[in-house]
This record gives sequence, structure tokens and C-alpha cells, in this order.
Amino acid sequence: MVEKGRHQHIDRELRSCPSCLCNLDFYIEDEFHMLLVCTLYDELRTQCFQQTWLHCEPNIELFYTILSSDDDLSIFALANYLYRAFDNTFIKYAANIPV
Ligand SMILES: [Zn+2]
Repeated sequence: MVEKGRHQHIDRELRSCPSCLCNLDFYIEDEFHMLLVCTLYDELRTQCFQQTWLHCEPNIELFYTILSSDDDLSIFALANYLYRAFDNTFIKYAANIPV
């Protein structure tokens, strides 16, 4: 929904995160939520994020710090996270949907 909602002209407030909605938590599934908040990606964040990112509370400053990093390790960490997060196998596995 992060990408599709905008392109399919779905109102922002209707783009709830299906994973969090299963836990009765309503979050708009936007880039901030996907990168820093969604519990679906907790384990992946632990595997990919730099330690300094993991020890910060999710906030807009951290979001901009991660997205504007220009050192190779940070860029690789972010790319690795996004690549794996968007991999359908991971999404299906995390959502307990048979692959
Ligand atoms: Zn979520």
C-alpha cells in the first residue's frame, strides 16, 4: 500500500497498514510507518539497521537521517532493508501466508 495507494488514488486516510490492522492498530501505511514503525518489519530492522538507528525512538528526524545518509554503510543498510521488505517472499512469510 506504500506505493500502490498513491498511484491508485486511494485517499491517504484509507491506506491503513493491513498488518497492523490485524492487531487492531490503525496506522496509515506510509514510508515513515514502513521504515520505522510497522511491527511486520521488526525482525528485518534488527537484521539490517545500523545500531544507532535501532536505539532511537521513531521520529521524523531519524527518518530524514536515514534517508539522507551518504555513507556507504548506511546506504547499504537502507537498500538491504528495502530490498528485503519489498521481497514478496518475506511479506508472505511475515504475514503467515503460504508461499
Ligand atoms: Zn504496519
